[in-house]
Amino acid sequence: MKGNLVFKILFSILFLGVFCVYSYMHFSSGWFTDGFAENVAALGENGEQIGQDSQEQAQQEAAAEPTVEPTVEPTEEPGNDLPDVDLASWEMILVNKDHAVDENFAPPETATLANDCVVDSRIADALTSFAEGAQAEGLPVYLSSGYRDYATQQYLYNRKISQGYSADEAAKIVTPPGTSEHQTGLCCDITDYYHDPKTTDLENTETFQWLLAHCQDYGFILRYPEDKQDITQVMYEPWHFRYVGVEAATYIMENNLCLEEFVALYDQA
Ligand SMILES: [Zn+2]
Repeated sequence: MKGNLVFKILFSILFLGVFCVYSYMHFSSGWFTDGFAENVAALGENGEQIGQDSQEQAQQEAAAEPTVEPTVEPTEEPGNDLPDVDLASWEMILVNKDHAVDENFAPPETATLANDCVVDSRIADALTSFAEGAQAEGLPVYLSSGYRDYATQQYLYNRKISQGYSADEAAKIVTPPGTSEHQTGLCCDITDYYHDPKTTDLENTETFQWLLAHCQDYGFILRYPEDKQDITQVMYEPWHFRYVGVEAATYIMENNLCLEEFVALYDQA
C-alpha cells in the first residue's frame, strides 16, 4: 500500500509539471523554438493583430514607400545587354573605308606563327589556340595571311587596278591602303590546307564550319559575313577572322552582327 501511495504522489507531481510546462509554452510563446517564434512574428507583421488604426498605418507606409526599380531591365531593345567593352581598347579598333589608319600605323609588336603568318603579338596566343582547336578535330587549318603593312596593301590594290578593275571594283576585292584591317595585325585569313584559294566556296569545308562555330570562344569574329556586305562594304570573306576579345566576339556572333553594327550600339547607348 505504501509503495502504491508514493507512486501516486510521484505521478501527480510529474503530471502537474508537464501541465505547467505545456501551459507556459501555449500562452506565452516565449519558450518556443526559433521556427515557431518566427512564424508568430510573421503572423504579427502580416496583420494578425491589425485593427482599424494599424491597417491605415500599413496603407500609409505602403503608399510612402518609394517604387522599387526592377533590377533587370527589359531586353526588348537591342543593346540593353551589351557587354562592358571599352571601344577605345586596342582590340576594338574599327578600320574600314570610313575609318582609315595612316601609313605609319602598325602593331606595336608582331609575332610570327605557323606558315610565317605575322600578327600583332597580343593575339598570338588566342590565334594559336584557335588553330590548335581546329587541328585537334583533325581539320587541316591553314593560316594564310595576317599583318600587312600599308605599302603591301597599296601594292595589292594597285595590282587590281592594273588588272583592269575600276577603283570601286578593286576596292571591293582588295581594300584600299589605310582601310584594310590587315594593317592592324588583329586579323587573319584562315583557310583549309586543301582549299587555300580565297573563294566563297571555302564555306563548304568542314574547317570553315568549325571555325565559324567556335571563333567566339577564342575571341574572334567572322569579320565580313555574307549578309552584311552593304554595311561592311567588303565582300563576303569566309576566311577573314578578326580578334576582338571573347566578350565582344561572343556578343557579336550570338547576335549575328558585324563589327560596324556592334560599335554603333555603343554610340546609341
Ligand atoms: Zn583578310
